Amino acid sequence: MPEIFKNPAFVISGRDLGESDRLITFYSMDRGKVRGIAKGAKRSRHRFVNTLEPFTLLNISLALPRTKGLSRIESAEILDSLSSIREKTDCYIMVSLCCELVDLWTRDGDPQRELFELLCSYFRSLKQGLPPRKVTLFFETQLLTLVGYAPNLDTCLCCKKRPEAGYVTFKVHEGGFICKRCQRTEDAYRISLGALRSLKYIQKNAFSNLHRLSITDAAFEEAWSLIHRLHCHYLQRMPASYKVLDMMSQTYSKKQKDML
Ligand SMILES: [Zn+2]
Repeated sequence: MPEIFKNPAFVISGRDLGESDRLITFYSMDRGKVRGIAKGAKRSRHRFVNTLEPFTLLNISLALPRTKGLSRIESAEILDSLSSIREKTDCYIMVSLCCELVDLWTRDGDPQRELFELLCSYFRSLKQGLPPRKVTLFFETQLLTLVGYAPNLDTCLCCKKRPEAGYVTFKVHEGGFICKRCQRTEDAYRISLGALRSLKYIQKNAFSNLHRLSITDAAFEEAWSLIHRLHCHYLQRMPASYKVLDMMSQTYSKKQKDML
């Protein structure tokens, strides 16, 4: 008899495998990322009716392989279908992005309980109706901390002092910034102190304090862009979801221009 692994887990992605199966990737509470084959799920949806949809929180039962190979999904019981999130396009796009990041940042069978809890808090905040992009910025910033790449948002990389006003120059490759006084060149990637302070707040606070974050639209866009640059830099690639977002914002700007 194979060993059976039972655990709460989120569906983070799924793809067809051969003619009749699907390969599902989960992020589980006790084993981190795990993959399992859903036998016959492509041909007949009866066995896993609506259970293996993206983001669903399940109680999975996996038959682990005796040696190498893939696990088989024995059963999957829905704990929370999170259907309200899937139905809203803006939420769906944001959650797909976060699930892709979790997939890119993690290895199979390398559990991190804080990451599972971060996903729980993320979905809870979306269900409460908090703004999806704000919730996602929270998630992406805290994910960087969990994977060990929290940017230094406190002091200048050169003089080690806290900046006082205006803008700083962010050095993505060094994970920190240079203050106005230490800046020598003109070709700088500038970040406002408002964006920096908001990101510091996110780094230091739990999701339950998200509603207290007060950030201007301009500072939000700066913070959003910086966090994406950092993920791309450390992952050494651009996640597909970021490309989709870029394309969407370009289409949106073109429409805006055409209307003028
Ligand atoms: Zn300085």
